[in-house]
Amino acid sequence: MELRVDRERCISAGMCALTAPEVFDQDTEDGRVVLLNRTPVPDQGSAVGEAAQVCPSGAITLVSGD
Ligand code: SF4
Repeated sequence: MELRVDRERCISAGMCALTAPEVFDQDTEDGRVVLLNRTPVPDQGSAVGEAAQVCPSGAITLVSGD
């Protein structure tokens, strides 16, 4: 699994960092998403998937790996 975030779309809602804090953080200045881990381990998959679903701006994309 590989993650992509679009910081231009991010509206600093912070739902991702609340849902999967080990994978997402927020910039201390503008509040936009900061990706801590681009390739989460399988154990983190459900939290990451939930974060992508709850993101109000659709800024998080999950790319399935091999
Ligand atoms: S949930 Fe979406 S809009 Fe909110 S900080 Fe994360 S990426 Fe940005």
